[in-house]
Amino acid sequence: MQKSIEKLKELTKDVVLLEHAIATLSWDQETYMPPKAIGEKGEQLALLQGILHNKITSPDIGKLLDDLGADDKNPAGKYESKISTDSAYIKETYRQYKIQTRLSEKLVKELALETSLSQAAWIKARKKSDYSIFQPHLEKVLNLTKQKAEAIGYKDTPYDALLDEFEPWTSTKEVADIFQSTQPWLTEFIGKIRNSKQVDDSFILKDFNISKQEVFGRKVLQDMGYSYDRGRLDISVHPFTTTLGRDDVRLTTRYQKDFFKTGLFGIIHECGHGLYELGFGDSVKGNLLASGTSLGIHESQSRTWENVIGRSYSFWKYYYPELQKYFPENLTNISLDDFYKGINKVEPSLIRVEADEVTYNLHIILRFELEQELISGALSVKDLPEAWNSKTRDFFGIIPPNDANGVLQDIHWPMGAFGYFPTYALGNLYSAQFSSVMEKEIDVNGSLEKGSLINVLDWLRDKIHIHGASKTASELALDITGEKLNPEYFKKYLENKYKQIYNV
Ligand code: ZN
Repeated sequence: MQKSIEKLKELTKDVVLLEHAIATLSWDQETYMPPKAIGEKGEQLALLQGILHNKITSPDIGKLLDDLGADDKNPAGKYESKISTDSAYIKETYRQYKIQTRLSEKLVKELALETSLSQAAWIKARKKSDYSIFQPHLEKVLNLTKQKAEAIGYKDTPYDALLDEFEPWTSTKEVADIFQSTQPWLTEFIGKIRNSKQVDDSFILKDFNISKQEVFGRKVLQDMGYSYDRGRLDISVHPFTTTLGRDDVRLTTRYQKDFFKTGLFGIIHECGHGLYELGFGDSVKGNLLASGTSLGIHESQSRTWENVIGRSYSFWKYYYPELQKYFPENLTNISLDDFYKGINKVEPSLIRVEADEVTYNLHIILRFELEQELISGALSVKDLPEAWNSKTRDFFGIIPPNDANGVLQDIHWPMGAFGYFPTYALGNLYSAQFSSVMEKEIDVNGSLEKGSLINVLDWLRDKIHIHGASKTASELALDITGEKLNPEYFKKYLENKYKQIYNV
């Protein structure tokens, strides 16, 4: 049996290499590729993706998984290996093999075609704020997505199969229970904040010199422990992080006059993702387990750096005097206290990507509820804008003036990525839960006040990064905090922080 596992690892090695090659082409496409190169780039990507599909679904892998006893009931197989990560290896290979073998070539091709048409229609629809342009495409994508869920299979609801692609081994019911207990609390908490004196963040909108933004941003990245020996920072339209190799994890950003939301906190966020990918330990490095264990856990890393660390008072106690030297014209007259309050302003808003950390999860719960109804058939694509607007009114007390600022704002549904949204909110919840333990085990604030971010990185590496996907999200939460995901940590985190800012 040990031989079968070794053989499995050997066969899946190419899968990882191919994934990194595909990531290299995609990175090029988003950054430096000249516009006319798009045609052949598409062919190259399609070719590699086809080879990748054949690799992961090869009969040899199927036979080995069979020998090891892996099936839907026992995805980790029935063999107890002496190497602790082996059962996780079988489980992850089985998960990928199962998804890839159950989707027919016809369905995969149809999904690729329809989602690319629907993204093009969505761009047009959003520009004109005209949902009717997008509606027939979403109907097709939704229909194919339902077929995909049926083909993969699920325990309770088709949504389980879709969620599993992004948040493996977590059920729809678990997520729904957690969100249901968070939503009324959040709505009430936001109501309290709305009734208190609003903070002034007008300095954020001032014009911040772009080359200085870059120098300051790169300094923070370096302090966080990101090294250009194993990565790069480049510019792209939509910031992202991607892994091109064991020792090559790249970040992108965009620079605008508005330095904070999209600039600095954006880079810190992406670097949080990057440090996770760079921190995989030797037992998983370069193999199928060298990946984030779920998108929720991935997002917990970026959010910890962006919000828990990057928007903390202690962090700015060290960095603010430095920042004032970079931008004296904008910040000389703004005190540290006012700056801290400004970057943590809470305000119900229409756009998810611009939302603060308090209102953010409500944007996600709204999408999670709607997409479940779409998948179950309780809501029709035609009635989606109305449902969107009425939920926005219930959750935030505001109604979108048009569909561009409402139902058409995100790319996930046009891409067919149903089941993706909840991972953002799970990230915030995991982040608060892990951070509460981190703060007990190391002197986080003391380190931040001295400008030392490495203690934080070391803790995250040791507890989370090193394991890659060899532990599931729930296993990580259990091992680190002694319990499964519990939204109470998030509530406590927000209460402690915003008590000081808003007196609530
Ligand atoms: Zn992220």
